[in-house]
Amino acid sequence: MGGARRLRRPQHDDFLTRYYKMLPKKKTPRGRSRRRRSHQALSGVNYTDCPRCNSPKLPHAACDNCGYVRPGLSLKVEKES
Ligand SMILES: [Zn+2]
Repeated sequence: MGGARRLRRPQHDDFLTRYYKMLPKKKTPRGRSRRRRSHQALSGVNYTDCPRCNSPKLPHAACDNCGYVRPGLSLKVEKES
């Protein structure tokens, strides 16, 4: 077995105790670490369609393609060449 198994806390108080006492008392169970990571998943980016040019845009942001924000307001967008 590898080195991780050797870093077990000693059963008796001997001279090695001070080297091991900063280690966790118990191994974290597989289920506990998986339960902890159950909240770490990333969600996908939510796109909406631009009402003017129908290209996908981020909500509450100007359209990348045509610069549309809302009726009466649109930003100037530089065309890629
Ligand atoms: Zn657009």
